[in-house]
Amino acid sequence: MEVRDRYAPSPTGLQHIGGIRTALFNYLFARSQGGKFILRLEDTDRTRFDQAFVQNLYDTFDWLDLKWDEGPDIGGPAGPYIQSERLPLYRKYAEELLEKGEAYYCFCSSRRLEEVRKAREEAHSSGYDRRCRDIPAAEAARRAADGEPYTIRLKIPLGQSTRFTDRLLGDVEWKNDDVNPDPVLLKSDGFPTYHLANVVDDRLMGISHVLRAQEWLSSTPLHVILYRAFGWEPPEFCHLPMVMGQDGKKLSKRHGATSIDEFHRQGYLPQALLNYVALLGASYEEGKDIYTLEELARKFSLDKLNKASAVFDYKKLEWYNGQYIRMKTDEELAALALPYALEAGLFGQAGSEGSAEDRAAFTAAMPLIKERVSFLGEIPGKLGYLFKEPPVPAAAEFIPRKSDLTQTIKLLKTGRDIAVPLAGLNDTEAEALVKQRAETEGVKLGDLLMPLRVAVTGARVSPPLFGSIRLLGAERSLARIDAALGVLSKEQ
Ligand code: GLU
Repeated sequence: MEVRDRYAPSPTGLQHIGGIRTALFNYLFARSQGGKFILRLEDTDRTRFDQAFVQNLYDTFDWLDLKWDEGPDIGGPAGPYIQSERLPLYRKYAEELLEKGEAYYCFCSSRRLEEVRKAREEAHSSGYDRRCRDIPAAEAARRAADGEPYTIRLKIPLGQSTRFTDRLLGDVEWKNDDVNPDPVLLKSDGFPTYHLANVVDDRLMGISHVLRAQEWLSSTPLHVILYRAFGWEPPEFCHLPMVMGQDGKKLSKRHGATSIDEFHRQGYLPQALLNYVALLGASYEEGKDIYTLEELARKFSLDKLNKASAVFDYKKLEWYNGQYIRMKTDEELAALALPYALEAGLFGQAGSEGSAEDRAAFTAAMPLIKERVSFLGEIPGKLGYLFKEPPVPAAAEFIPRKSDLTQTIKLLKTGRDIAVPLAGLNDTEAEALVKQRAETEGVKLGDLLMPLRVAVTGARVSPPLFGSIRLLGAERSLARIDAALGVLSKEQ
């Protein structure tokens, strides 16, 4: 049997971590089985539908570079893949259930349903009171044909239980009397509800495995009842562990970014995000963290999923991102970070494109920060001193521990002596030169470097000093040192 699975989002919100996790697990499972991964848009909730969310879905998956085999944008043999384009089908199947006596017309007005809801709430129960269930079928058909507004409801077989085996959670059993009482399948506007459309489409699209978040588990008995009502074999279900925040509550905006858009904006790399999300609720090799998508696809197995909910750890994701940043070449990293540099106005005003030299300098500066950043958005802030003259810090900033102003001026003058050669040396050569100089002067290496660093980069903590002097060149470095000496001597 061919494995076919799907990601079936409702475009009622931005793509977020939970959704991506479901999509990715479906993708990996299909790949691991040589099967097909399908995208289906479940857009039957017209009040919450927004085309912007559809666009966000496509943009997100484009950015992640995660591709489906069949879907609304690329078509496929089981299309259309958008539920609002399949309305006649749902009507046909709802009517089939009417004919079989597995469903019935309901003529209750929304006002009456509201009254029922309130009354039931007071009695600590919920759902429909099944009033129309017993209207004789011929009479109901006549009323519908006469134009009376109606919905079609599923006739849940009462006094029985529904059982299914979840691939992860094992045997699940629900008493039918506890299942949502006779839910609507087809609404009065002709749109199907989630339950009908989901089951009909999974069947017609040949879905063999339904991998979805555990929040859908409570709908599954109802879906199984629907499959049986049609006389169909249900697919295999696997409800994925929930994704929680560190406090054990469902991951939400309270915990931090959840929309993929936001991670993108902050400068996370899609590979890092996918790698981290792939390990939410699954474990592979002990002690191994970094996996390519291909590796994950080879290793993925439903047997490796954890039952317990997964905890989303922002720090761990940051770590992953840092790892992926280090794997980029300088050119790749500069290209990825460029939009952030432009937005931050690194080369002039915000949005300024910068000259060819600016861009070349930006690329050349990547080795200075590659080991030191966790996301792209941090990069411009760390490199500002290379592109704009930093203000000269106050004298106190220059003074090494246990030193004083007079000594510091002397140290910086020594630094000035070697600045020109330093600009032409590689790190090893530069290191040797400063060591030798510190020795002849009888000063500590750190003490020699501190005032020089503050003068050249404008801060006590900065990217590597030698690389900075090299990139700035002798002339600009000297000018900064002189400006600093000016400030220091005024203090004396
Ligand atoms: N449309 C549902 C959602 O928004 C699909 C749930 C399922 O996978 O069955 O997630």
